Amino acid sequence: MAPLTVDRAELKAELWSAIDRQAGDIEGFGRDIFEHPELGFREQRTATQVAEALRGLGFAVTEGLALTGVRAELQGARPGPTIGIIGELDALPVPGHPFADPVTSAAHACGHNAQLAHLLGVAQALRATEMAGRLAGRIVFLAVPAEEYVDLEWRSQQARRGTIEFLGGKPELVRLGVFDDIDIAMMVHASGNAGDEPLSIHWNYNGFIAKRVRFIGQAAHAGVAPFRGVNALNAATLALSAIHLQRETFRDEDRIRVHPIVTHGGSAVNVVPADVRLETFVRGATIEAIADAAAKVDRALQAGALAVGADVEIDTLPGYFPLVMDRELGAFFRANARALVGAANWAESAVCNACTDAGDLSQIMPMLHPNHGGCVGFNHTEDFAIVDPATAYVTPAKALAATVIDLLAGAAEGARDVLAAFKPALTRDGYLRRIRGLTGTRRFSYR
Ligand SMILES: [Zn+2]
Ligand SMILES: [Zn+2]
Repeated sequence: MAPLTVDRAELKAELWSAIDRQAGDIEGFGRDIFEHPELGFREQRTATQVAEALRGLGFAVTEGLALTGVRAELQGARPGPTIGIIGELDALPVPGHPFADPVTSAAHACGHNAQLAHLLGVAQALRATEMAGRLAGRIVFLAVPAEEYVDLEWRSQQARRGTIEFLGGKPELVRLGVFDDIDIAMMVHASGNAGDEPLSIHWNYNGFIAKRVRFIGQAAHAGVAPFRGVNALNAATLALSAIHLQRETFRDEDRIRVHPIVTHGGSAVNVVPADVRLETFVRGATIEAIADAAAKVDRALQAGALAVGADVEIDTLPGYFPLVMDRELGAFFRANARALVGAANWAESAVCNACTDAGDLSQIMPMLHPNHGGCVGFNHTEDFAIVDPATAYVTPAKALAATVIDLLAGAAEGARDVLAAFKPALTRDGYLRRIRGLTGTRRFSYR
């Protein structure tokens, strides 16, 4: 029986040396993925690269989870909780990015390629050091599709065909049960603001729901007989004003953001517009606040249609849940980060107004989603690039590997403490009911 009192610092140092020895490979892998971006649920090449690399390390690999997800497992020597190390496979459309795919415009302008380098860095180091024999529990390496909420036409088509139900990768994997045997999840995401610290954490992220809206009026000649028409653009104009007039009811602490755009405003100037389309996100800090603001948006949309006697069709997509970072996981990561980069190069903030489907996971399990630097430009723009491969690819792998030690060394007391302190906002079934309850199309007729 292995002794249960272990020197965690020694185990971490062993993993860090193993990662340093493989730093060239880890950076090379990250760079290769950066140069071959693919859109979500279609990351065929990326998934194959990850699967082959894991097989090369001796893992049995499962592929094709939620179309492109990849999973491998490492069993510890004693029973204990399961830690999921996550890497997102997808890129997003950024035409003009130097490595944008000429057909799809996909570009790794959110740095997800680095996450896959971290995943492989940790897997390789655990293997090279035969660390599993000294750990309790289990580690699951999980490359997940489709974090970016983009390419919605194609994804909706897939949903209608039944190849997926949800439009984000992690919700889809939860639905398929791929997270059922994972107790704690962690990953490190690129922080794409120039000058950001090498390692950092935002403790909370907003969630959002999306709406696609169609006002349906009656076409008529705009000069000869406008009185015979029902002007859908007038309905939309009133609805937008009504949405803006809700803003004084939003509380600062709920961090509500509603930012509608008109995606189709009419077909010809001499025809009364009969088909006008809007899209909007409704972002906020809590599920309740988002639902409250979304109900106000729905009311405002109906008001526009009612005033001119049009119809309005509101298609609601569930978007992503707010991310509430696990404090205990964050504390482990903070200590490891400071040991790696120094306290002066570590930063924390309470809030980030971006959204991620890691938020969905945080509703049902302890989630760690800090940030790494080494990038320039802003996320999602053509300027985004990774300029310091050691900081972007290698250091985060070390921080994650050290956090695995904190969680699973000895009898996995660290992971057990995290789980004992964690209060899930939703059960897994409750989460699926909630996300399905948010989804749907409603039509209101005032013609
Ligand atoms: Zn992104
Ligand atoms: Zn991202």
